[in-house]
Amino acid sequence: MEKKDICELNIDEMKALMKEYKEPAFRAVQIYGWLHKNKAASFDEMNNIPKTLKEKLSADHFITIMNAEDVLISKLDGTRKYIFALYDGNVIEAVLMKYKHGNSVCISSQVGCAMGCRFCASTIDGCVRSLTAAEMLAEVYRIERDLGERISNIVIMGSGEPLENYDEVVRFLRMISDENGSNISARNITLSTCGIVPNIERLAGEGLPITLALSLHAPSQEKREEIMPIAKRYAIDEVLKACAYYYNETGRRLSFEYSVVKGVNDSEDEAHRLVRLLKRFAGGFKSHEGAFHVNIIPVNPIEEREYESPDRESVERFRLILEKNGINATVRREMGRDISSACGQLRRRHIKNADTGIN
Ligand code: SAH
Repeated sequence: MEKKDICELNIDEMKALMKEYKEPAFRAVQIYGWLHKNKAASFDEMNNIPKTLKEKLSADHFITIMNAEDVLISKLDGTRKYIFALYDGNVIEAVLMKYKHGNSVCISSQVGCAMGCRFCASTIDGCVRSLTAAEMLAEVYRIERDLGERISNIVIMGSGEPLENYDEVVRFLRMISDENGSNISARNITLSTCGIVPNIERLAGEGLPITLALSLHAPSQEKREEIMPIAKRYAIDEVLKACAYYYNETGRRLSFEYSVVKGVNDSEDEAHRLVRLLKRFAGGFKSHEGAFHVNIIPVNPIEEREYESPDRESVERFRLILEKNGINATVRREMGRDISSACGQLRRRHIKNADTGIN
C-alpha cells in the first residue's frame, strides 16, 4: 500500500483513523497537536505516543516537511525569502516578513501559475501543479521552526492562484486555524485572488472570517484585459459584484491590490477612473463605511518584461487622488529591499541556475 500524508488529515479524519486503529479518541488530539502545534518532523518525536502506535502510523503514513534549498535574510528588516524543495523535485517560494504587530508569512498555493498576469514572474512557465494543504501548512511550519518565533499572520500571495486550488486552500485554512493545531485566527489570514468569481462567492459561504484581497490593477475592463488575461473570463463588474457579496456575507473589509506600472495604469486620469469605479461599486454594499481600502504596490520589475515602476512622486500623486476623493489608500512598503526580487523571480533564478549547474 502506498503511504499517505498524515499532515493532510484534519482533526475529524484523525479521529476516524484512531477509531480504525482501535485507539482512544484522545490520541487523535495528541497526534494532531504533535504535527500542527509542535510541528513535529518525524513520528519519533512524539514521546507520549506508544511505540506500537507510532510504528503503525509510520507504516502507513509519511510527514510532509519542507526542505529549504536557499534562504536569503535581509539585513535591513529581517525579511527572509525561502526556496523550498517539494518531494517531487519542484521548488516554490515563501517569504517571512517581520512587522511590529507580529510575524507574517507569505505562502505559495501552486507551483507556478496559469493566470498569465503580464507583470508577474510566477506565471511565465505556467502552472506545474497545485499544492496540497499539507504542503501549504509545511511552508508556514518550516519558517516557524527556523525562526523560533510564533507566526501570527498569513497571506496567500505567493505563486499561484489560490481560488484555482479551492479545496486544498480551504482545507489549509480550516486546519491552520484549528485550536488543536496552530490556532492562527482566520482574521489574521488574507487570501489574494485575481478574481475567480464563482469561487469568491463560494468562499463567502465557508464561515471563514478571512480577508479577501482582490488583484484589481486597472480601473476599466479594457485596461484590465490588457494586463490580466483572466479579465476576459470574468468582467470587472462581475468581479466587483462578487466582492460586494463577499463583504455583505462576511462583514470583512476588502482589500484591492493595485500594482502601479509606469505608463500603463498610473496616470492621473486612471486614478480618477478608479475613484469612479469604486464609488459605483460601493453602491452595492449594505453599508460601505470602511468596507474596503486600496493597496497600491509599485510594480516590482521582472527581467522578462519591460514594465517599470513609476517614480515615488507619481505613486504618491496617484494615492492622493484616491484619498482626496474619500477612498482609503496606502502604498505598500517594500520589505527586504536588499534581497529584493519580484514575486516568483527568485524561484525562476533558482531553477535556471540549477539547470546550468551554477547554484
Ligand atoms: N494569484 C493571486 C495571488 C498571487 S499574486 C492574485 O492574483 O492575487 C499576489 C499579488 O502580487 C497580486 O496582487 C499580484 O498581482 C501581485 N504581483 C505579482 N507580481 C508582481 C510584481 N512583479 N510586482 C508587483 N506586484 C506583483
